[in-house]
Amino acid sequence: MTSHQSPIWHPFTQHGLGDPTPLIARAEGARLYDAQDNSWIDAISSWWVTTHGHAHPRIMAAIRAQSEKLDQLIFAGWTHEPAEMLAAELIRITPDPLTRVFFSDSGSTSVEVALKMALGYWYNIGEPRSRILVLEHSYHGDTIGTMSVGERGVYNRAWQPLLFDVDTIPFPHEGLEQATLDALEAACAQKPAAFIVEPLILGAGGMLIYPAWVLAEMRSICARHGVLFIADEVMTGWGRTGTRFACDQAGVIPDIVCLSKGLTGGSLPLAVTLCIEPIFAAHWSTDRAKTFYHSSSYTANPIACAAANANLEIWRDEPVQQRIDALAVAQGAHLSMLGHNPRVANPRRLGTIAALDIVVPDSGYLSNLAPRLIAFYRDHGVLLRPLGNTVYVMPPYCIEPDELAQVWNVIAASLDAPG
Ligand SMILES: *Cc1c(COP(=O)(O)O)cnc(C)c1O
Repeated sequence: MTSHQSPIWHPFTQHGLGDPTPLIARAEGARLYDAQDNSWIDAISSWWVTTHGHAHPRIMAAIRAQSEKLDQLIFAGWTHEPAEMLAAELIRITPDPLTRVFFSDSGSTSVEVALKMALGYWYNIGEPRSRILVLEHSYHGDTIGTMSVGERGVYNRAWQPLLFDVDTIPFPHEGLEQATLDALEAACAQKPAAFIVEPLILGAGGMLIYPAWVLAEMRSICARHGVLFIADEVMTGWGRTGTRFACDQAGVIPDIVCLSKGLTGGSLPLAVTLCIEPIFAAHWSTDRAKTFYHSSSYTANPIACAAANANLEIWRDEPVQQRIDALAVAQGAHLSMLGHNPRVANPRRLGTIAALDIVVPDSGYLSNLAPRLIAFYRDHGVLLRPLGNTVYVMPPYCIEPDELAQVWNVIAASLDAPG
């Protein structure tokens, strides 16, 4: 294990706990290596981004080739081939009503853009609306706006005074789905601007799964009330839930979709917000006051777009869906073997994502459980990062069966390890 003294302030890291920070030198497939060739299996796809595996040759080649042609370009009033190709392909693979593509550079930003599009729409058509409906336990990012539409808690307590008010719809727990739908129906009657959801599974909220019919029903309630429906597919997109997009499984066509993470196969930061024509049309004018005022310096960076185009080629040319199907089956088999362990509760799976809760004796134990588990997994050659007492496995689709077995063996061992 390599430790590293450095001036870096790491994200979501309590430096006061003094945990060692592995120094990774290279990665390939589902494995990370340090300079001494110690390796770790990346069982969470480097925080949900790596889909086809690290350093996929096709994506690396596209990055190399693009870097020799055009590195960066202002995107206000100018354009380039990799962005044009990518936008056209995204429009081709998503449902017909989604006609416009807005580029940005992270999942959080794509959500900020979605919220701004929604309010911009209502403002520009002369019926200003500003309330946003959100689902309980949601996570949409760590900027002020995305924290506002996410679950409130220890992660954002210090900034609570800056967060705007939203209306929260209860999570559709099993047996309580109708209560969720009724609450949404009542909230929609108040004429909010939009409802934002993570389709089918709430990631950071604890890998909470809900059925496709509920997603479909929520969508049609919004449609009936003319409330814009925003699907945050930042985590669920690109095959994680078993289909390319989670909304596909529910036959849902959102008004706005946010994509990032696996958009470049997990190689470079890039995000898009897709929307339906009326939202674009509401901003289309000879009046400069109706311009959509949003940009990041690296909007539609050409090298990142080239990486995303390579990702889409991989989806076209390689048996990606078969890999996803096989991984889903394997995850289910491993999960069912562990499901009988008395320390395991709520084993659950959606597509390639498998999760379980560890039964803990008391909540004080819980507070230290995740860091202890993270260290245990790290010491046993596996990168896993439980959410509280929820352990989940979300590997790249290229993970080998023996690597996946090792991940689950280490999880099993962690259940028996002394506290
Ligand atoms: C990760 C995530 C985001 C934020 O994406 P970043 O690229 O980390 O800003 C937003 N929404 C969901 C559902 C996510 O999982």
